[in-house]
Amino acid sequence: MRVLVVEDEPQLLQGLASSLRNEGFAVDVAANGRDGLFAGSEYPIDLAVVDLGLPDLSGTELIGRWRAEGRTFPVLILTARGSWEDKVAGLELGADDYLVKPFHTQELIARIRALLRRSAGWAESKLRCGPYVLDTASKSLARDSQPIEITAFEYKVLEYLMMHAGRVVSKTELSEHLYEDDGDRDSNVLEVIIGRLRRKLDPDRELNPVETARGHGYRFRFERNQSTRD
Ligand code: CA
Repeated sequence: MRVLVVEDEPQLLQGLASSLRNEGFAVDVAANGRDGLFAGSEYPIDLAVVDLGLPDLSGTELIGRWRAEGRTFPVLILTARGSWEDKVAGLELGADDYLVKPFHTQELIARIRALLRRSAGWAESKLRCGPYVLDTASKSLARDSQPIEITAFEYKVLEYLMMHAGRVVSKTELSEHLYEDDGDRDSNVLEVIIGRLRRKLDPDRELNPVETARGHGYRFRFERNQSTRD
């Protein structure tokens, strides 16, 4: 998943970017409102974290401009303590959640994960599709309650596919949401990862959970389960 962080305090911006990358997100950064507007309008981001006090263009103006352009990704705002008017303005302009500075990075990450899940229509942290359960909190996978070991990168690919279970995800879409730099994208690498995931998810080749859609992309074949039980 790809996250944009718009924050003008350099240390906080770099700290957040590296924490989010460690958590497996692709991260775009902007240090002012104008660059943030460009990034949120031009890049296929899944969520934005926006400081409200920004140079050039305030955080509330930024959110208003994105929403006016029809950009619907979730937005989490960062506010200074005590500025409740800004918080309210941000929420009314279409922000989805907020955190008051100073905050714990782990809380920010938990809120980002919850917003991403909810925006894809998932109410809880476990993605359940057919016999597979992907736990987005512990980043673990199970099939019929039996754990399956996957690498951090395999997890990222599978999370995106299961988050959008039942829908065809093109190779371009998948790589744009997994990598922040065009130069890192390599569809051969993705094909290798998909091949490995298929062997791990379905060693006996009986379920075909990750379908190839006419050479253009992939579809996680099992749609989300209605039941909320394990
Ligand atoms: Ca600021």
